[in-house]
Amino acid sequence: MADNSSICVSINGKDHPVLCGICEAPVSFVGATNGKTRDAGCTQCANVADILAVLAMAAEYTKDEEMLHLSQMAQGVPKTLNAMRVDGRTTHDQVYRFIVDLKA
Ligand SMILES: [Zn+2]
Repeated sequence: MADNSSICVSINGKDHPVLCGICEAPVSFVGATNGKTRDAGCTQCANVADILAVLAMAAEYTKDEEMLHLSQMAQGVPKTLNAMRVDGRTTHDQVYRFIVDLKA
């Protein structure tokens, strides 16, 4: 899995590919290096941002996803009870430009 063209984030010691939040295709670097930073993203969707911004958005998605997972895991709590909890939501209420394939 040493593919330099795809962008991964390391979560709990495991690499997960960063995907386009629109079409879910793996994102890659776009264009040439311009000094210290580079753009990355999905050219098909014109969903391109600075690599640092891409990673920040992917990290935000990961945090939210993990929180949702915890909510979904809330052992055997009836849905009605769950729905009354402030943070009991089990789906994203926000669209992320960049997501992470946590199952990969
Ligand atoms: Zn895309």
